[in-house]
Amino acid sequence: MLAVVAHPDDEAFGLGALLALLSDGGVPATVLCFTHGEASTLHGRPGDLHTVRAGEFARAARELGVQRVELAGHPDGGLSDMPLDRLTAHVTGLIREERPSHLLVFDTGGVTGHLDHQRATEAALSAARRAGVEVLGWTLPQEVADRLNAEFGTSFTGRGPA
Ligand SMILES: [Zn+2]
Repeated sequence: MLAVVAHPDDEAFGLGALLALLSDGGVPATVLCFTHGEASTLHGRPGDLHTVRAGEFARAARELGVQRVELAGHPDGGLSDMPLDRLTAHVTGLIREERPSHLLVFDTGGVTGHLDHQRATEAALSAARRAGVEVLGWTLPQEVADRLNAEFGTSFTGRGPA
């Protein structure tokens, strides 16, 4: 499995349960994260976020049983301004090295609506198409997204049962 995400913590809060389940079942997993998450406003921690979040990413990967992590240095909040081919090339390189049967991504709407999430998925889908690799997308039930948005003023996107 190759998971492709935008920020440190996306692999844990979004995909963590599945990554841990795969690890428990002996499925090797790699996570590619495009940014260090340095633009987060949710931290409430002292220190340089570029470094703090890289450390959190590495620790989360160990907890989840992820075998390999790749943390790229693209700008947090700026993925949608980057050439898609450049991001796709990262994914393609890891597909060549790790030979995953599947990629694991956030849904095309980014789940939280974050543009970086959408762009990370776009790059993964582009690479998967070229390599002929299947893709699994994580999404929320629409009613859960609606409830989160109503309660917290967020921009989650979900899917109907079909
Ligand atoms: Zn994120």
